[in-house]
Amino acid sequence: MSEPLYFDSNATARMRPEVREEFQEALLRVRGNPSSLHGPGRVARHMLDEARERIAAALEVHEDELVFTSGGTESNNLALLGALRPLAARRGLAISPIEHSSVLGPARALQRAGRTLRLLEVDVSGTVRLESLREALDDASMALVSIMAANNELGTCSPLDDIATVLDTAAKRPLWHMDAVQALGRVPLKLRALRVDLASFSLHKVGAPVGVGLLYRRSGVGLEPLMYGGEQEHGLRPGTENVAAAVAAARAVELALGELEQHRQRLRTLGILLWGELVSKLPHLRLLGLPVDHPRRLPGTLNILSPGLEGKVLVMRLDLEGVAASAGSACASGSLEPSHVLKAIGCSDEEARSGLRLSCGRETRAEDVHRLVEILWRTLKSRT
Ligand code: PLP
Repeated sequence: MSEPLYFDSNATARMRPEVREEFQEALLRVRGNPSSLHGPGRVARHMLDEARERIAAALEVHEDELVFTSGGTESNNLALLGALRPLAARRGLAISPIEHSSVLGPARALQRAGRTLRLLEVDVSGTVRLESLREALDDASMALVSIMAANNELGTCSPLDDIATVLDTAAKRPLWHMDAVQALGRVPLKLRALRVDLASFSLHKVGAPVGVGLLYRRSGVGLEPLMYGGEQEHGLRPGTENVAAAVAAARAVELALGELEQHRQRLRTLGILLWGELVSKLPHLRLLGLPVDHPRRLPGTLNILSPGLEGKVLVMRLDLEGVAASAGSACASGSLEPSHVLKAIGCSDEEARSGLRLSCGRETRAEDVHRLVEILWRTLKSRT
């Protein structure tokens, strides 16, 4: 059986061959626990330190500012809960309403614990309204603002420079947490220049093994751990570190950032090709978010509406045709609820169940796009 056409790269990416090779070597080399004082322990410690230094160099941050986690979900939880819990109960937070559920979840938990949670407004493209951010900042009790770099469902990137400027002009600047999971390797991210305080990454999205993520914590930002019981990762993430996965992740990040410009140009071209072919054959389709060639579109990610057809039904039909796509975020795709992201940009419940997310990746070729369009046309033409 031939491989499915994979258009779900925002959910995860296959491990890159160069990463697999370095992962295997590291698995063979590592024997000790990095906290052990003996030789094998020191070897493991050295491997972990080196992996962290390589990632820090690629991200242009200091190695002490990086905490290894299990992925994006844990990093987001650690950022929000870890930053807010040590603060006085009157301190609140503001988030965009299109954040991933791993930001919404801890934000709602903090709200249940009595903190003020403010949802910022977004426009029809999913871009945060700067005016709404300014209003939120008038409230000096705001301790943290969480605004993602790129939305996983819509493929809308945030105006990062503008957000940084608005935050800087606040009378009392809150911390900025940025979920950078979808942006890594696809959007240039200058964490220092943007004065980001906390940023979450999930490294399987760039071809590292699943189970390794990062939280960037600008030096000086106070954080409380979610778990207790060890001093690993500055006490912020206790438990024996996954050394081989960290080494593999270092390779994946170096490759992703080294190839950033070429990769984003390739993805952009594929996205434009895909939408151009789709809309010429199926003019009833609607593209959500920004225009396909807009500079703030996450390259290679499209969310399309085929009115009257549930996204999940379409995903299942496409699966039968050998196409892997998604009806929104992978973690919510088992639910019957309409997408909170599509609802936030003004879609009705029915529309918010009709989104089909197509996301291209490193392995996507132009001929895959032609085949996908042909299959979608066959699947949808009866509905035009
Ligand atoms: N944040 C965003 C924007 C995501 O797209 C995802 C996963 O799709 C996550 C966080 C969670 O990452 P993980 O599944 O690796 O925990």
